[in-house]
Amino acid sequence: MREDGIVVRGAKAHQTGAVNSHEHLIMPTLAMREDDADYAVSFAIESDAPGILMIYGRQSCDTRKMEEGADIDLGNSSFGGHEALVIFDDVFIPNERVFMCREYKYAGVMVERFAGYHRQSYGGCKVGVGDVLIGAAALAADYNGVPKASHIKDKLIEMIHLNETLYACGIACSAEGKPTKSGNYLIDLLLANVCKQNITRFPYEIARLAEDIAGGLMVTMPAEQDLRDEKLGPLVRKYLQGATGTNVENRMRVLRLIENITLGTAAVGYRTESMHGAGSPQAQRIMIQRQGDIEGKKQLAREIAKVDVSLDQKPAGK
Ligand SMILES: Cc1cc2nc3c(=O)[nH]c(=O)nc-3n(C[C@H](O)[C@H](O)[C@H](O)COP(=O)(O)OP(=O)(O)OC[C@H]3O[C@@H](n4cnc5c(N)ncnc54)[C@H](O)[C@@H]3O)c2cc1C
Repeated sequence: MREDGIVVRGAKAHQTGAVNSHEHLIMPTLAMREDDADYAVSFAIESDAPGILMIYGRQSCDTRKMEEGADIDLGNSSFGGHEALVIFDDVFIPNERVFMCREYKYAGVMVERFAGYHRQSYGGCKVGVGDVLIGAAALAADYNGVPKASHIKDKLIEMIHLNETLYACGIACSAEGKPTKSGNYLIDLLLANVCKQNITRFPYEIARLAEDIAGGLMVTMPAEQDLRDEKLGPLVRKYLQGATGTNVENRMRVLRLIENITLGTAAVGYRTESMHGAGSPQAQRIMIQRQGDIEGKKQLAREIAKVDVSLDQKPAGK
C-alpha cells in the first residue's frame, strides 16, 4: 500500500475479451477471511498500464484462422472471442480507482451479487448462440435432404424448447428483481442461480441434437482448399452434393458453422463457458441451497399434512 494508491502483484486467468478491452475491472472471486485481506481488493485499471502482461489463450482449430484465404473453414468468419491470462507485475493503482482495499468481510456478498447478475445474463447470451445453432441445424437438415423426417422435426422442437426454457429463466430472475437500499435493482438470486445451473446442462443437449442432425460430414469433410482445388474441387462437389442436388459450398458453410459452435473456437463460449463461466455448477448449487428456503418448504408440508410436531420423538431435521 502507498499513500496515493496500491501496488498489485498476481494473475487472473480466463479473462474474456481482455486484449481488446480498454479497462480491466478486478474483484475477489470468493468469500474471504482476515488472512486473505491483502487479496480483498477491487479496482479498475487501463489495459496498457505499466506492469500488465497478457498471455493469449489457445483455442481448438485456431490455426485455421491463419490459413491463406480461409473463409468456409473458419465456420464463423465475422464473430469470435478470446480469453487471456492477465498478469499484474507490480501495477500501481491510484486511490481514486480503488473500490475495495482489505475489507475482506464484504468480499463474499460482492461475489454473490456480481455472480448473480452474471448468471442472469447467461439466460440471454447463450440463448442467442442457441438460436444460431438451431437455425444451422435446421439448414443442415434441408441440405441433407431430410427436413420433413419426423425425428428431425421433433429434435428441432426439443432444441427450441430447451433454448426458450433458458431464456424464460433469464427473464424471470430479472422480472423478480427488487430494489436494494441504494435503489439499485438486484435480480432474484435463487432464479439467477437456477438460470445458470440450467445453462450448465441444456446447451450440451442442444449441441448433441445439432450434431445428430448435422451428420458426421461436419467433422470428416475435406477442406475449403480442396473445394477450391482445380483437380479435387469437382470431385468434392460431385460427391458431397447429396441426394437433393444441394449447393456444396453452402452445405459446407453450414456444417462448419455447427462445428465451430459445438467443437471449434466458439465452443469455448457455448459449451465450456456455459459450464464454468460465473462459477462452476457447484457454486450455483451452494447458492440454490442457501436461497431455496428448505425450512420454509418443510413447514408448508407440515401444515398441509397436519403434522403434529409435539409427537415427534426428536426434533425433525436433527
Ligand atoms: C470461456 C470462459 C470464459 C471466462 N471468462 C471469465 C471472465 O471474463 N472473467 C472472469 O473473472 N472469469 C472468467 N471465467 C472463469 C470462470 O468464472 C471460472 O472458470 C469458474 O469460476 C471455475 O473456476 P476454474 O475454471 O478455475 O475451475 P476450478 O475452480 O479449478 O474448478 C474445477 C472443478 O473443481 C471443483 N472445485 C473447485 N474448488 C473446489 C473446492 N474447494 N471444493 C470442491 N470442489 C472444488 C469445481 O466445482 C469444478 O468441478 C471464464 C471461464 C471460461 C471457461
